[in-house]
Amino acid sequence: MTPKSEIISGPVRVRMAPSPTGPLHIGTARTALFNWLFARQYGGTFILRLEDTDRERSTLESELDIMSGLKWLGLDWDEGPERGNYGPYRQTERKEIYDRYLNRLLQTGRAYYCYCTREEMEAERAAMESQGLSYHYPGRCRDLQAPPPGKTRQLIRLRVPAGRVEFNDLIRDKVSVDSGELDDFAIARSNGEPLYNFAVAVDDIEMKITHVIRGEDHLPNTPKQILVYQALGVDLPRFGHLPLILDTDRSKLSKRSGKTNFQDYIDQGYLPDAIFNFLALLGWHPKGDEEILSRAEIVAMFDLSRVQKSGAIFNLEKLSWLNAQYIKQLSDADLAQALRPFLTRAGYTISSEEYLVQVAAVSRDRLRTLSDIAAHAGFFFQLADYAPSLLPWKESPREETLRVLRAVREAIRALDPAAALEPAVINSTLAELVNQEGKGQVFWPLRVALSGLRASPDPISIIGVLGQTETLRRLSLAIEKLGNNVVS
Ligand code: GLU
Repeated sequence: MTPKSEIISGPVRVRMAPSPTGPLHIGTARTALFNWLFARQYGGTFILRLEDTDRERSTLESELDIMSGLKWLGLDWDEGPERGNYGPYRQTERKEIYDRYLNRLLQTGRAYYCYCTREEMEAERAAMESQGLSYHYPGRCRDLQAPPPGKTRQLIRLRVPAGRVEFNDLIRDKVSVDSGELDDFAIARSNGEPLYNFAVAVDDIEMKITHVIRGEDHLPNTPKQILVYQALGVDLPRFGHLPLILDTDRSKLSKRSGKTNFQDYIDQGYLPDAIFNFLALLGWHPKGDEEILSRAEIVAMFDLSRVQKSGAIFNLEKLSWLNAQYIKQLSDADLAQALRPFLTRAGYTISSEEYLVQVAAVSRDRLRTLSDIAAHAGFFFQLADYAPSLLPWKESPREETLRVLRAVREAIRALDPAAALEPAVINSTLAELVNQEGKGQVFWPLRVALSGLRASPDPISIIGVLGQTETLRRLSLAIEKLGNNVVS
């Protein structure tokens, strides 16, 4: 673990470098967040760079998905090419820069053209593998004085010196690799089209990145990128590899788990603050035990030296719990605003903002995600049909339930229509009946009559939201259902 005091030695510049070959992945969002936190904590710069050199797999749709997801999470980037609105950078727009660096490497002899064809190398690979050996490019074109007759340039390779590549990872401490394991790897195609590790290193150099913070799956790339830095004679940034994200069974969180697509969390109604808080704790934890932390607290407390080496377990239960806590903290008006699209999507018509705010207030405690609202509170907008057999409390006979519902209806009808339906008013109206019949006998059928459900916010607050007229209508409907049906 690198002590915090040794992590920084000047202005911080970090970057997020997703490949736009699919929708925003939850792990990419976590990496982006850690970079952003680090930048914000030190007043540094956070850059978004789209690594779109794989033209076949990169799509505009993925770019938009990634950018809108990061924005939704509140991760703003600070810089970009002259296109207004801060970027992002795109590798496909930086060919001249890669050419410049490539020429430098070719001129200094740190890179060379390789003439070996794919077929030759495939045959060599097959031969070596049949002897149980792993394939290494034998460096045939390394010291050629002239192109072999009849052959054309295939690739540009880095001349990798013998020795060890070593670096002090901010999270994983000392990493050391024998460069013999890395071959003279290819850095570009013969037409100058840059290959992955070369483009990343050049961009990080050009963008003056001070800290490369990315997922542990990139650890094998880092020695190659360091060799590019060394070949160019430039200083290295610091590297920090974030722990893998694991599923609850400790396997790597896979697409198949259905938990990796960031947009799904937006669609299910997780709040940006909850996701922010949750992702921050995926591999990092503050000194104390507190788990609900505001953005400002996380920015202030975040500490790369407290990021763990071992895999970070992705616990959906914890996310739901956190989300429920954040839902509790919203004002009624903000919650209503957040719930609106979920109700509309579920097909409910919202008569007024005021009504929605009341629904939000009484439903709040039952919500773990915003999309829960449809199941928990849809009845406020439209009472679904329900079985009459749901109305009686326990084994209570139908006649008794009918009698109680009629009495409740009378009590509600007797209220002054101009008076506010405060819980205290309704409670005292029903107090005598509850005393005589018992709580269950009154509140169970009342709940079902009002909501059509077994579980709902308490019936008294439902009456407050529905109002006198609608409450009476629903009570009459229940009475009618019971009157017309034999309860089984
Ligand atoms: N483009 C790489 C990816 O999407 C990230 C490269 C990096 O962070 O260095 O996985």
